[in-house]
Amino acid sequence: MKDETKLATLGRDPEGHHGAVNIPVYRASTILQPDLKTLADTYAARARDEQVTSYGRIGTPLTYAFENTVAELEGGYRAMSFPSGAAACSGAILSVVKAGDHILVTDSAYGPTRNFCDTLLKRLGVETEYFDPLIGAGIKELMRPNTSLVFLESPGSLTFEIQDVPAIAEIAHRHGAKVAMDNTWGTPLYFKSFRHGVDLSVHAATKYIVGHSDAMLGVVIATKESWPHLRDSIRALGVNAGPDEIYLGLRGIRTLAVRLPRHMESAITVADWLKGRPEVSRVLHPALRDDPGHAIWKRDFLGACGLFSFELDRKYGDDAVAAFVDHLELFGIGYSWGGYESLVTVAKPHSLRTARPWQDRGPLIRLHIGLEATEDLIADLKAGFERLNKAQG
Ligand SMILES: *Cc1c(COP(=O)(O)O)cnc(C)c1O
Repeated sequence: MKDETKLATLGRDPEGHHGAVNIPVYRASTILQPDLKTLADTYAARARDEQVTSYGRIGTPLTYAFENTVAELEGGYRAMSFPSGAAACSGAILSVVKAGDHILVTDSAYGPTRNFCDTLLKRLGVETEYFDPLIGAGIKELMRPNTSLVFLESPGSLTFEIQDVPAIAEIAHRHGAKVAMDNTWGTPLYFKSFRHGVDLSVHAATKYIVGHSDAMLGVVIATKESWPHLRDSIRALGVNAGPDEIYLGLRGIRTLAVRLPRHMESAITVADWLKGRPEVSRVLHPALRDDPGHAIWKRDFLGACGLFSFELDRKYGDDAVAAFVDHLELFGIGYSWGGYESLVTVAKPHSLRTARPWQDRGPLIRLHIGLEATEDLIADLKAGFERLNKAQG
């Protein structure tokens, strides 16, 4: 089955729900059982890892439908939902590590992922070492006998370095370490992480899976080998995602294969246009032919999303950047991305980098290109450049 067909058919069960096309929201804590024998059987089935409805926190038919749909789309074994993408990142890491371990995390990782490693994980006796996202097979030099996990994010969601996932995974596995990857940018549609050696694929479903900027949701997809560790760790933590959010995740993903190509196409159009602007020193987008990550992106990814950055010439100061950003009409100023609408932020990777410092560079602007017409977006940016130059004098 092609991905488009999977997205239209997986996780549906009209016969089980009075003919309703979508599985309704189950708002449930207690699941009543007719008698003690059935209750015991249900809990025994749960212990055998069957997807039974035994208690609200563990999952309802809607939870399992969402998790199975995402897992099957990406090519993993099973998935676990989380109340946010940040919780999914932490949960994936926690499912692998124990006190005394050493883990390797890409220097381009999402800020809150780093924060988790630098605070809570450190307190639990796990040492984090950051590595150059472009390290590739050079990761071999960093592996130690107690390295249990390599955590990737490709491309980095501020700086867009593409990582050589297969090369890194091969070395990690040879040393007995697992590979987790924040695959939010690639989505289960455009980066089939399990074909490239990933053991745990993490998504901020808040972004393209929900797709409409109206819910917080995370999901981790695991290989068969990693699944029991993920399941047991997260159940021990008592983490679960809310039913309405899961509903929005499953509803959102139905149209992923329609939305993403449009985000991709529009973002490339805008990125190409930005490359021709004299104010712009660099556009960071792996789908552009002259991007340093382009060859690996083309080899491993099936597409791109609508998120990328560009760097302004170093001469532009904070006031000029504010003049550009503050009065854009179609680009909302805000974090997150993956909704239908365009967004802009000024990215500040400097304080987040330790292995490969981000220095001596011009202001970095990150755009999320939504589903608006590119002509309108470009006109908005063009007016922004006029303000930028006027403010810089
Ligand atoms: C947004 C984001 C997250 C966190 O997701 P939330 O749902 O906001 O907690 C994790 N990783 C990446 C790459 C993100 O962009």
